Amino acid sequence: MVSYLLFVTFIYRNKIKLNKEVGENMTEHVKGNELERKARELLTERGVTIDDMAELVFYLQSSYHPNLTLETCKENVERVLKKREVQNAIITGVQLDKLAEQNKLEQPLQKTIETDEGLYGIDEVIALSIVNVYGSIGFTNYGYIDKQKPGILARLNDQSTGEVHTFLDDIVGAIAAAASSRLAHMMADEEMKHQDD
Ligand code: MG
Repeated sequence: MVSYLLFVTFIYRNKIKLNKEVGENMTEHVKGNELERKARELLTERGVTIDDMAELVFYLQSSYHPNLTLETCKENVERVLKKREVQNAIITGVQLDKLAEQNKLEQPLQKTIETDEGLYGIDEVIALSIVNVYGSIGFTNYGYIDKQKPGILARLNDQSTGEVHTFLDDIVGAIAAAASSRLAHMMADEEMKHQDD
C-alpha cells in the first residue's frame, strides 16, 4: 500500500513537472526584435548590404517603372526584412554556410554544402519560404534573378573566394524577389488611385 502511494505520488509530481515544462515552452518565443537584429547582423557580417539588395530590386523592376528610385527599392527591402519567416531563413541558412566554411558539418552534408552541389536543393527550399510572402509573382522574379545572377549574387556565387554562401545566395535572391513583388503591388495600387482621381 505504501509503495502504491509512493508510486502515485511520483507519477502525479512528474505530470505536474511535465505540464509546467510544456506550458513554459509554449510561451517561450524568441522576441521579434532579437530575431531581426541577429538577421541583419548576419547579413552585414557576410558582406550583404541593404543597398546590394535594393540594386537587385531595381534590376528586376526598373524596366516596368521608369521613375523608380533606389530609395523606393530600399524601402521595400526594409519591409521584407521585418518578416519573421525571412529572419528565420537568414539565421538558419547563414548558420549552415558558416559551419560549412569552418568544416564543422558531418559528411556527406559538409561536402554537399561546401561545394554547393547542384542537386541538393534545400537551399532553394529555404529561400521559397521568403519568395511568396508578398504574393506569387515573387516566384517568377526569383526564378529570373537566380538564372541571371546580377550584382551581389555574382559575388556570392564566386567559389574562388573560399567563402561558402550556398544558402545565402538563394536567400538574398528571394529577398529581392519578395521586395520586387511588394513594390509591384504598391505601384499597381498607386496607378489605380490615380485612375480613380
Ligand atoms: Mg544556393
